[in-house]
Amino acid sequence: MTRIASHRGGTLEFGDSTPQGFAATAKMALEEVEFDVHPTADGAIMVHHDATLDGTTDRNGAIAALSEAEVRAAVINYGAGGHPISLSELCAIYADSKVDFRCEIKPGIDGRPYADFVPHVVELLARHGMLGRTTFSSFLVDSLDALAAATHRPMLWLVSPPVLRQLGTAAVIEVARTHNIREIGVHVDTADAALMAMVRGAGLDFGCWAAHTTEQIEKVLALGVKVFTTDRPSLAITLRDRPRGEDNR
Ligand code: FE
Repeated sequence: MTRIASHRGGTLEFGDSTPQGFAATAKMALEEVEFDVHPTADGAIMVHHDATLDGTTDRNGAIAALSEAEVRAAVINYGAGGHPISLSELCAIYADSKVDFRCEIKPGIDGRPYADFVPHVVELLARHGMLGRTTFSSFLVDSLDALAAATHRPMLWLVSPPVLRQLGTAAVIEVARTHNIREIGVHVDTADAALMAMVRGAGLDFGCWAAHTTEQIEKVLALGVKVFTTDRPSLAITLRDRPRGEDNR
């Protein structure tokens, strides 16, 4: 069965990385909650997509330059008044949930990995009993290398459309092999059966990200990818559970 990952706690249904979205996702009939992490200036780990608060909250500033309290004081746009939460709080929300973690390691505002960040994320997840339920992801091969040095948990490489286009499938597979990466995820609009066959033929797992419309979700379900992220988890569950066979596929 294709796995569903609620992207940032279901951005189009609950706002971007909101406590409400994460609490709702924890109760959904899906397999993973996707989220992104950034360090604060005082050593906390916050769950937020962007490296800054500028685009998604009522405040400004780079998370890595702010304290946990300052980040927590921001109000998330379209998020029912919710504030950014820490990774510790996210662990508490999912302690008794059947939904597992898909943790994306983000770069800082300069596009480079945060120094010595990955071991802290791994340590915090382990301390809260969630490491064994976590798959990691990153667009950055450097961050995947750092993860491999810190944990044996599964991880996947998020391959952006420009990287896929510029490298080509064979080179993407070669980079994955070189870095011991066992799974890749591509943007849903760059996925097709031929690409999936090539990736799987090389012994790698294949998934998609950013399947937000009915058409995109139907596409990944028809392809039978391993997993996909979506901003509309409720819609994805409805489409996956719908009886198949009476339509034209
Ligand atoms: Fe993400």
